[in-house]
Amino acid sequence: MGTKDGGKKPNPNDLNSFKGFFYYMIIILVMTVLLNGLVFPSALKSQVKEVGYNEFLTMVDNGQVTQVEKDDTNGEIVFITKDSNGKQQIYKTGLWDDPDLTERLYSKGVTFDKVIPRKESAIMAFFTNWILPFVIMIGLGQILSRSMAKRMGGNAMTFGKSNAKIYAESETGVTFADVAGEEEAKDALKEIVDFLHDPKKYSDIGATLPKGALLVGPPGTGKTLLAKAVAGEAHVPFFSISGSEFVEMFVGMGAAKVRDLFKQANEKAPCIVFIDEIDTIGKKRDGSGMGGNDEREQTLNQLLTEMDGFDGRKGVVILAATNRPETLDKALLRPGRFDRRIPVELPDLKGREAILRVHGKDVKMDESVDFNAIARATVGASGAELANIINEGALRAVRMGRRVVSQADLEESVETVIAGYQKKNASVSENERRIVAYHEIGHALVAACQSNSAPVHKITIIPRTSGALGYTMQVEDGERLLMSKEEALNKIATLTGGRVAEDLVFHSITTGASNDIEQATKVARSMITRFGMNEEFGMVAFETVTNQYLGGDTSLACSESTAAQIDEKVVAAVRKQYDKAEQLLKDNMPKLHELAKYLYEKETITGDEFMEILNLSPDQLTTTRMETN
Ligand code: ADP
Ligand code: MG
Ligand code: ZN
Repeated sequence: MGTKDGGKKPNPNDLNSFKGFFYYMIIILVMTVLLNGLVFPSALKSQVKEVGYNEFLTMVDNGQVTQVEKDDTNGEIVFITKDSNGKQQIYKTGLWDDPDLTERLYSKGVTFDKVIPRKESAIMAFFTNWILPFVIMIGLGQILSRSMAKRMGGNAMTFGKSNAKIYAESETGVTFADVAGEEEAKDALKEIVDFLHDPKKYSDIGATLPKGALLVGPPGTGKTLLAKAVAGEAHVPFFSISGSEFVEMFVGMGAAKVRDLFKQANEKAPCIVFIDEIDTIGKKRDGSGMGGNDEREQTLNQLLTEMDGFDGRKGVVILAATNRPETLDKALLRPGRFDRRIPVELPDLKGREAILRVHGKDVKMDESVDFNAIARATVGASGAELANIINEGALRAVRMGRRVVSQADLEESVETVIAGYQKKNASVSENERRIVAYHEIGHALVAACQSNSAPVHKITIIPRTSGALGYTMQVEDGERLLMSKEEALNKIATLTGGRVAEDLVFHSITTGASNDIEQATKVARSMITRFGMNEEFGMVAFETVTNQYLGGDTSLACSESTAAQIDEKVVAAVRKQYDKAEQLLKDNMPKLHELAKYLYEKETITGDEFMEILNLSPDQLTTTRMETN
């Protein structure tokens, strides 16, 4: 649905469409000149020349004239001459009462019984050469833009009019029950629902609710879902538009869309306006007036104007979602606009379990399924990923020809989400498999030999599509919110364990540890630059996280000499943990061999199997080093 613009008040948008039209005209003009000059050069020449009657007679006598026409209606003679080069030219002259003319022409062999196909008059020429191309091209442009608009759902050249695609879904069908976890966010939004149910209750007492609320959090945590749930609970129209839809091909469209959106919302109040991915239009405006992203600024300005302009008591609530709050323009966040900020964080253990339950509701599961175990194995997973795990598990069950989903299906899909699909026929040599087995057991053994390490849950040397040749999965018993310094150091030691085992057993090292190295460095670095876990530097932050919800990139802010010192300390910290891991494995060599052989033969072993072998007494261990060939 789209409405026409009211367009009563003067608007920057009109100026923009004028600018657009102006550019369009210039383009056509240039094209016309080119066409006239290059394609039809003759058309640029002057047309019919006028000469005196005497001159005409001279030309006839000289034999230059080839054809003559007596034009009685205009009272003139039109004639064609041909010079020695064979070049033709059309002339005209006045019509005189000259009885000898016919005889004269006849004797010179001039044709005079045909109409001369003469070229148009100057005015006509101007029309055909200049006006007509303009008309044709504007017409073509209109047709093109219309067909383009049809295909793209917006319109490209209908200057200033907006076709904003706005969805008014009276019933989204989503309720708060569909959103698991996120209790704090739900509580904050329930107030808004209550307001939409009964705006009068609030206005009677003189309270105004915030006009806008901003949902911030990492991708896939249910921000869009929550906004829909608000509409579903409040039973009011839900106008939803995504920031990316404002990115249009023609200047001024975004602002027009915003105006349209709010106009419709005002008519339908009480209602909810939801702007998803608001960071696409709400980015900080930069000072540079020139170039820049004019279009985006126009849109943002319009949004700010509209937010100030409407009456908050009417019952229009604006929700917006973003995963890059730090990039938003401050003007958007000031009181009276999006002043309420609702964090939608990654789910905790309880939240993950609840989300798994919500999505597992309609999936047939057998009694082996333990959502709590899956939730524990998926630290850091978002709601969207958890929903995906359930679905992947169901797909796997179908692939295996079963009618219900089992725990094994879900565990496999957790691994798929973490490490990619199994690569069954990957060509890994026996030798490489042996190395990988020692590497993985190295990790697991170092972890098990230290206190304060998460228990080993599973070890596998089945290659994955992500490129991993094997991995060791550790699962915490419960939720961990803090990490102690000791745990962080143990983590580094565990990460080095793979490489240590390779080196101890084969006296050669491989590239297989690259990911471990990366992670170990990151932990060691953060300990010093962000967590104040270095005695010498103490509680000083050298690094700040720049985008909290997307990848958590950091930027370093310290002097060069400090940076060099940090690097030294990182190297020293990792080396110290490497030495610790080396000592641990040296002390447990028989177990390392026994476990590596077992893993090599079984490909995948559980945490229980691992612990069983680990707890064998020394005389029960039979294996010596697996030989490489
Ligand atoms: P966002 O907008 O935060 O990126 P979405 O709202 O689009 O995330 O979530 C994507 C999908 O993930 C949802 O459609 C839903 O299936 C699932 N999901 C995410 N969070 C939750 C949650 N808390 N409860 C239930 N499902 C969730
Ligand atoms: Mg979203
Ligand atoms: Zn490793």
